Amino acid sequence: MQFSAVGAPAMPAGHLFYGGDYNPEQWPREVWDEDVRLMREAGVNLVTVGIFAWAHLEPTEGRFEFGWLREVLDLLGEAGIGVDLATPTAAPPPWLTTRYPDVLPVDERGSRYSHGSRQHFCICNPAYRSLARRIVERVAAELGSHQALRMWHAHNEYACHVPYCYCDHHARAFRSWLERRYGSVQALNDAWGSAFWSQRYSDFAEVMPPRMTPTFANPSQLLDYKRFTSEAFLEEFLEEKQVLKAARPDIPLTTNFMGFLKALDYFAWARELDVVSTDNYPDPADPRSAALSAMHYDLIRSLNKNVPWIVMEQTTSRVNWREHNVPKSPGQMRALSYQALARGASGVLFFQWRASRSGAEKFHSALVSHSGQASPVWAEVTQLGRELAGPEPWATAKVRADAAVVFSWANWWAVESSSSPAHDLKMQDQLAWMYLPLYRRSVTLDFASPAEPLQPYQALLVPSLYLVTEDEAANIRSYVEQGGTAVISFWSGIVDSRDRVYLGPYGGPLRPLIGCDILDVAPLAPADVVEVEWEDGTKTSATFWLDIAAEPQGQQGKVLARVTSGPWAGTPVVTASQYGKGSVYYIGSRLDHDGLQRVYDLVPALRPGPTDFGSRLTDGVERVVRRSPDHDYEFVINHTDNDRKVLLATPGYDVLGERPADGTLPLGRRGVAVVRHG
Ligand SMILES: [Zn+2]
Repeated sequence: MQFSAVGAPAMPAGHLFYGGDYNPEQWPREVWDEDVRLMREAGVNLVTVGIFAWAHLEPTEGRFEFGWLREVLDLLGEAGIGVDLATPTAAPPPWLTTRYPDVLPVDERGSRYSHGSRQHFCICNPAYRSLARRIVERVAAELGSHQALRMWHAHNEYACHVPYCYCDHHARAFRSWLERRYGSVQALNDAWGSAFWSQRYSDFAEVMPPRMTPTFANPSQLLDYKRFTSEAFLEEFLEEKQVLKAARPDIPLTTNFMGFLKALDYFAWARELDVVSTDNYPDPADPRSAALSAMHYDLIRSLNKNVPWIVMEQTTSRVNWREHNVPKSPGQMRALSYQALARGASGVLFFQWRASRSGAEKFHSALVSHSGQASPVWAEVTQLGRELAGPEPWATAKVRADAAVVFSWANWWAVESSSSPAHDLKMQDQLAWMYLPLYRRSVTLDFASPAEPLQPYQALLVPSLYLVTEDEAANIRSYVEQGGTAVISFWSGIVDSRDRVYLGPYGGPLRPLIGCDILDVAPLAPADVVEVEWEDGTKTSATFWLDIAAEPQGQQGKVLARVTSGPWAGTPVVTASQYGKGSVYYIGSRLDHDGLQRVYDLVPALRPGPTDFGSRLTDGVERVVRRSPDHDYEFVINHTDNDRKVLLATPGYDVLGERPADGTLPLGRRGVAVVRHG
């Protein structure tokens, strides 16, 4: 592990974390010894402990019991198993919400949640904050110097179940946040466009959280409430971080993200982490699950490009919280674990170590199943543990992406606003539309905030960047001006940071990049499929949306394709233009697969990979490369239940099979190969 930035004694270089959440408080003492013995058998080297232990660590207010947890850490430490020690603040005990009932959050209708589940707290509640801080301080004081400690883990899945609370504490905190942001109520009125529907405020005291309203709330108010909420959770996290780091500054700190979680701006959060970690539960019943999982990992790797990342939670087989929970196929857990490692992870962990007998997740799979070691899962768990026992030569190699998807949480919040002409325009659909064809081409993508340096990339994908600030747009323009290529989709450059429309032809500060004037923006009828004709007469199709574009004038772009059916026949739908030394392709509708491929074919960084090893892949096989100064490691993963063959143009060495690899590389069902080149 490379945790030198924080001076961590976490793991020697080249080793990977393997393990899971360990909840010994669910089990009698005699089970703990067997747990530790089985962990060693499985090759587990890190377990997350204490994550839901508040009620056991503080059974009544102010009475603390840490002896049992210290004994657990002693057992783990003696066995050489590291501990990722969590704070238990995601699940306050019943005594707390009984004594301080307004800790319970309030929904937009004014109904208060009850305890009996988890995450039943208001992040702005002073009693919660004070009691949370005290238990975090006790965790740090009691166990911060324990020799088994390898990592701090704040909280669990911030904002997972109750991202938005509308209580009076939130109302007060929101008003203070707005005063700091805007300075005067006049500035607030301007920002929110409060002249509409007589919403003009005369005092900050009149402002409410966006509680239930007769119809659509003010979209700028909704957007600010999302910003405020992400920052309110972050403030609590930073308080925990400060306590934990004060106790043990030399070990890395994380909190477990959830991939595309809408409520939290993870770009802002990831700056505060030493290790980015994520929980990923692809649905085995979804044929796109491997591709969507890859997109999840590419996002996580990209959030803070200077620190390592790990999978904090996945499941060995099935979850229990979907409507219908099918298990993973034999080998699928291993294949998806290697997918994370191929995309740069420094470890894979699971929820949870031992399947519970009781409680809400008792049918959620675990490393140790209800049926114990007889379960086929155990054989997979121990096999993977042996394979990852390391050191792995590829564990310090890096994933390098030549292209990135431009993505921001503020845009996600705004683009799905209730004022949109298409409430069914979902950011994740837009991302998948542009990302999945490139996944199938083995083109590895990063994600990039529109505010970060973009020069490392040869190409940018810009799916529906509806909200873009002047500074972000200047950053993208500068990137293109200096020679970059951008592929910009419809519904981009529409509003500013306050969700106010940029006037003039649509596109706002992105207009100089777009090869034509966009005069109107509108969804197509749900069943509409329009014909798209290309310069060479080829016909493809498009759906969902159509920007109404004027004919390019003067130095504007060249039309590559037009709509040739329906009321808007003749409208340019794909244009190419030059800006400075760079190129822009503008796409005015949701092109079908073939149409999108035609655009991608024009961009060298988006052409079908692999361009370096020439391996020819068959359907359902994923390919990613980790690069080190000495070698490149080509991961090929069969995500199907059928045998596959990969044709290797460049011979290499099969690291897992420990044999030379040239010509045809056979991959059994859910098979994985790591081919070393160079
Ligand atoms: Zn609240």
